Amino acid sequence: MSNHGKKQPRSGKARKALRAIAACITLAAITVGVFVLFPQEEVMATTDEVAELAAEEVFFEPYQLTRARPVSTVQETVVITKQYTNIHYENEEIPCHTEYVDSAYLPLGQEMTISAGQNAVFSVEVADVQTPEGTSRIELEREQVSYAEDAVVLRGTGESRMSSYSTGFSISSFDESTGAMMVNVDGQSLQVLGAINCNATAYCACSICCGPYASGRTATGTVARYGTIAVDPSIIPYGTRLYIVAADGSFTYGYACAEDCGGAINGCRVDLFFETHSQALGFGRRNCIAYILA
Ligand SMILES: [Zn+2]
Repeated sequence: MSNHGKKQPRSGKARKALRAIAACITLAAITVGVFVLFPQEEVMATTDEVAELAAEEVFFEPYQLTRARPVSTVQETVVITKQYTNIHYENEEIPCHTEYVDSAYLPLGQEMTISAGQNAVFSVEVADVQTPEGTSRIELEREQVSYAEDAVVLRGTGESRMSSYSTGFSISSFDESTGAMMVNVDGQSLQVLGAINCNATAYCACSICCGPYASGRTATGTVARYGTIAVDPSIIPYGTRLYIVAADGSFTYGYACAEDCGGAINGCRVDLFFETHSQALGFGRRNCIAYILA
């Protein structure tokens, strides 16, 4: 069949048909029909098989089934003439599924794309088939070029008091089973629930910062130390663990815990504790990103 100098069959259907034909030859003893495979090939097939091949539209250029005729008393009148032309490839995309994950740390209704996902793409070999009834388009073969990956989108429920201050941040990975978001900050990987923009000032335990009755104790009774921060507890609840960096990258405060409060610390303001007054002065006031640790 490869000697007539034309294309080899390309479709799974054609290969199946040729296998069927080969099987027919071995079953010649019970063969009831014959059809001619253009132009040199003459093979046997049963009536049912001829009908099946015809129904499946398996023949295409150059394997054009030109004629089928009976070889026994069993009637067989299948005649198929199909011409396949304009064989070409088309890409077909199937949109990926989007998984929505609730986040208490985003405002109600706000969405944040964690992973854009990827559509499944198929390369489809198609052809026009000419029949006495006209031209129609058929698919010869399809091959999957790329596989779908789910898109993941965080959808805010606004349940956390911090949600109204949440900000966009860049997520390096996302664990769909636990909902944990990983962010890369300062070369380390942090597991976070979200992040908030805040305006940060600095203080120490001295009387300038804390007044004449400064005790070194926080509002929650802990001893103030580096990592202690003062918050508005109606916004950032006591006990919240954070990782704080300057938004412009000029300073890393690092791990912190919301343990203290202060008269001027309202809304999304935080006061960062330093061991010495000069360190606090050195920090001054900076816009910061406070990652809310999981
Ligand atoms: Zn001070």
